[in-house]
Parts: sequence; C-alpha cells; structure tokens
Amino acid sequence: MICEIVCVGTEILLGDIVNTNAVYLSRKLAEMGISVLRQDVVGDNNERLTEMLRQALDRSDIVITTGGLGPTADDITRDKCCEVMDSKLVLDEKIKEQIEGYFISKGLKMSESNIRQAYVPEDGIVFENDNGTAPGFAIEKNSKCIIALPGPPREMKPMFEDKARKVLEKYSDAVFVSHNIKMMGIGESVMAEKAADLLENENPTAAPYAKDGECFLRVTASGKDKADAEEKAKPVVEEAVKRFREYVYAVDEENIETVLVKLLKKYKLKIALAESCTGGFAAKRITDISGASEVFDCGIVSYSNEIKNRILGVRKENLEKYGAVSEPVAKEMAEGVKRLSGADYGIGITGIAGPLSDSTNKPVGLSYIAVCDGETTECVEIKTSRHDRDYNRYVNGSRAFDLVRRKIIKRFEEQEEK
Ligand code: ATP
Ligand code: MG
Repeated sequence: MICEIVCVGTEILLGDIVNTNAVYLSRKLAEMGISVLRQDVVGDNNERLTEMLRQALDRSDIVITTGGLGPTADDITRDKCCEVMDSKLVLDEKIKEQIEGYFISKGLKMSESNIRQAYVPEDGIVFENDNGTAPGFAIEKNSKCIIALPGPPREMKPMFEDKARKVLEKYSDAVFVSHNIKMMGIGESVMAEKAADLLENENPTAAPYAKDGECFLRVTASGKDKADAEEKAKPVVEEAVKRFREYVYAVDEENIETVLVKLLKKYKLKIALAESCTGGFAAKRITDISGASEVFDCGIVSYSNEIKNRILGVRKENLEKYGAVSEPVAKEMAEGVKRLSGADYGIGITGIAGPLSDSTNKPVGLSYIAVCDGETTECVEIKTSRHDRDYNRYVNGSRAFDLVRRKIIKRFEEQEEK
C-alpha cells in the first residue's frame, strides 16, 4: 500500500511554520509498514488543492492531509476532500453540540462559521477532536482512502494515534495489537516524562494521551500475526503497569466504576455517597452496573447547606467559615454518610461544576472529594479550570471511585503481599 501526505497551509509555503506534521506522519507510517511515496505542501487555494488531491489519489492508495479543517474561509480541506472523493457533506448534530459545548466551556462566544466544522462526509468515518473543535475524517471508496486531520500538532497527533491509526492498520501487511494502560491521579505530561524511554521505542510504540481527567498510555505492537504482536507488546505493557503501579486502575476495557465495584465485591465491602455538585451522577454510575446492590448502600444528594447540616451533620460553623466547597465540608459529608449508612466507606463530593461560579467566587472546576473509612478521612482537591459542567461532574465521580479503590488496595492487597 502506498501513501502520500499533503499538508495544507499557505503559512508553511511562506516559511512561517515548520512542517512538523509531515515528519511525524512519515515516521508513524514507516513504523506501521506503510510506504510513503511523497510529501507535498499546498497553499490554502481551492484549485491547487483540488488538483493536488486528484493527482495524489491517482498515484497512491492512501492520501493523508493535515490542516485547513478550521472554521475560517481559508479552511478548505474538508470541502475539497469530499469533492475529489465524490462525497456529500452533512451536518452531524452530535459534533455540532460538542462544538457548542466547547465554546461554553471556554467561556467564549461561538460564531456561525464554527458550525461549518460540524459538517462531515456522509459516507466517512468521523474522528472526534478531543483537543479542539474541528473533527477529522476518513473516506474510503473505490479502493482509495483519504484521511483528513487538523493542522495544530496538539490536535493532529492524538487524533492520528487514537482514531486514524485504526483505519490505517488494515492497509498494512502487519498485524497490530494495542493495549491501553489506564491511569488516574497522574497528569499526562508527568506520565510522558516518566515513560520517556518507552515512548522512543519503535515496536511496540507507546503514546500518552489524556481524556476526561484520566491518562492513558497506549502500547501498539506489530507482528506477523496476532500472537507475535502480543508477544512484542507484552514486556512494555508489563513494564508500564509496574512503573505506574500506583496510578493504573485497568488495562483495556474496564472503566473506573466497574473496577471499583469488582473490588468492593471481592472484599465484601460497601460504599455510601454524599453528593453535592454531582447531584447523584456518581451514584448513577455505580448503580448502572448490574449487581451494584451488593456494594452500594445509599446515595444522598445533599445539595443545600441545610441538608448537609441536618442530615449529614456537617457543622454550621464549617459551612459558614469555609463555604460548602471546602475540605472540612467534604470530609464531614463523607463521615456523615458513613455514620448514617454503616457502609465501609463514606464518600463526600462537593465542588463548583460550572459553567458559572457560585456566590463565593471560588473558581469553577474546584472540588473536594473525601473518603472516610471509619479511622481516617482523606480529602483531595481538584482544580480542572474547565467551565464544563458535565466534564467536572464526571471527573469528580471518577476521582472519588479511584480514591476508594486505592484505599482498598492499600488495606487488603498490599497487606496480602507482605
Ligand atoms: P484551526 O482550527 O486551528 O484553524 P486547521 O485544521 O484549520 O486548524 P490550519 O488552519 O491549517 O489548521 O493550521 C492551524 C495551525 O496549526 C497553524 O497555524 C500551525 O500552527 C499549525 N499547523 C498547521 N499545519 C502544520 C504543519 N504541517 N506542521 C506543523 N504545524 C502545523
Ligand atoms: Mg485553520
């Protein structure tokens, strides 16, 4: 299979920016065993881009573009890719909503032209953009494949790793396997630093990325068959799990709530939740799992200060002195719900989910998560700086589950090992 890379942008031709996207893609494609025949750069010009794409598709099986997917008039790649592949652009409601949400979360006003980015090829595979607004896509037709990725490297690279790679793997003779090492409580950049040696490997490759307050290391190996690829991946997966032991909660499929419910079942433990800003969302995530009744005692949505005080026993002085979103209140919520329920772990969640702050002017995205095991009450502070209500609520729940998970591991599994 033969591939060409077409980077779109007049600023590359003018020498204003260095074409690092081509370097990155060529390296990744070589690692995947896909031959790159040419790299080209073309300005933001309708005729020249169309001509370039047509020629590239004549010569090669796969054409990968970067740039020109944004909202402005000079962002023409989306239209031109569809034109040469004979595809129609259609409005994707889900992407439209995501773009609207992105602007709200940044506290910015969205212009009409941004909706252009919600148009995707009717018969294509859409790549959602986890680090920006413009989605990418792949169109496969008549034995040809065109893949369009955004220009900014910080959007392009994770989209390639996370989405485009899967489409491209079938064009390679090699067989690929990927494993996701899922971590919580460590930031992407710290993780990448600690995994620097693993990130330099060619087979398996390892790539870090962040999503929804979590951090993943994806290890991808190629081999002549699945077993061969698995064998190559294995030592790196094992090394990463060992190195990030404290943070790793799963490899591959499972989400944090499933991992926690399994662990609670294993040790016959129960949790109880006192939720403020998450409004019962954390309880929902636990009770979404079949068999949760064995491990879930109760959830109290203590939204008002009065209920925090009257039902959970959060002291009025603490509510007044520190405010509802504070460490002392989170701790007393956790202790209160544990006392009330008799569960093994009481969890308190209080925060400012946004998009607007409360009357205290504390920053949106500030939360306190506390876990009480009857002996001690631990509390973590989270600052997401995101004005995204759904995101903040999701991250709060995840961190709460992870805190309990860690406590159980410390109490039971590390003891067993000793
Ligand atoms: P946006 O939504 O940001 O407009 P886009 O997909 O339309 O994204 P462009 O407008 O073409 O992309 O480029 C945006 C920025 O991305 C450029 O200013 C540049 O900083 C970076 N960029 C674009 N192409 C490349 C490239 N080939 N190599 C490195 N950086 C690039
Ligand atoms: Mg642009």
